[in-house]
Amino acid sequence: MHNLNELMHYKPATKALAGRNILITGAGDGIGRAAALSFAHYGATVILLGRTEAKLEAVYDEIESNGGVQPVIATLDLDTATHQDYLNLNNEIIENLGALHGLLHNASILGEMKPLGQYSEDTFARVMNINLTSNFLLTKAVLPSLQLADNASIVFTSSSVGRKSRAYWGSYAVSKFATEGLMQTWADEFEGTSNIRANSLNPGATQTAMRRQAYPGETPTDNPSAEEIMGAYLFLMSTDSVGINGAQLNAQIAKDT
Ligand code: NDP
Repeated sequence: MHNLNELMHYKPATKALAGRNILITGAGDGIGRAAALSFAHYGATVILLGRTEAKLEAVYDEIESNGGVQPVIATLDLDTATHQDYLNLNNEIIENLGALHGLLHNASILGEMKPLGQYSEDTFARVMNINLTSNFLLTKAVLPSLQLADNASIVFTSSSVGRKSRAYWGSYAVSKFATEGLMQTWADEFEGTSNIRANSLNPGATQTAMRRQAYPGETPTDNPSAEEIMGAYLFLMSTDSVGINGAQLNAQIAKDT
């Protein structure tokens, strides 16, 4: 049994993810990019989902030049993707890869940092759509792929404001609270009935574009890089986490993110 408070230091065995197909949203930048590179390093076939093709291609090239298994690119804007887009993705996974062993819901936007009384209605809806609703739609559409895996892991990305909200975090905080609720509902439905587990993960303060947007006055290097927080992501995607379902985990000892 692993100490779930020490996941930052988790290291899987070499090629622990070999033979596992893992879909990562927002794989072109920040934490999603680091997760894609890290999963590929441990042998996974990664499906790189994102809205900016050039960024996905750069990650694809990096994985290939590192000697990883050839990845798959899925260019999709989670704000505008249709039900059919998600169904097509599920069908392509089954046809080309056979099954889906991991799904990392990572893509999110920050929205506005301002009081709710001044918050734009449009931004509120857009943040909820990208950060929350797409997680439901994508999970639902790829359930058949996940059910074809011997065991499968879904990771929902939370935040400290998804567990205790704070002023000025607007619909970002609301979307992260709801993501926790979505995770708990799936997890309870999977419990005892399925080979799928669902958990949430708060990355904690991490050097990325989103963190710089939320905390412009901060020295970025005061926070760990995305590469340094991969332990918890690897743990949840590996078979070492089979049996852990419905948990709210932290990738690092919490800081105010
Ligand atoms: P970044 O802003 O660096 O990266 C977000 C990624 O999501 C980008 O690849 C972006 O694509 C993608 N994305 C955004 N909108 C869409 C969309 N409509 N369709 C498809 N892809 C989209 O964020 P982080 O890496 O920092 O954050 C990753 C996750 O971690 C998020 O869920 C965030 O809420 C969470 N988190 C981050 C913390 C931190 O300190 N960094 C702390 C707590 C939680 P593109 O580059 O093309 O815009």
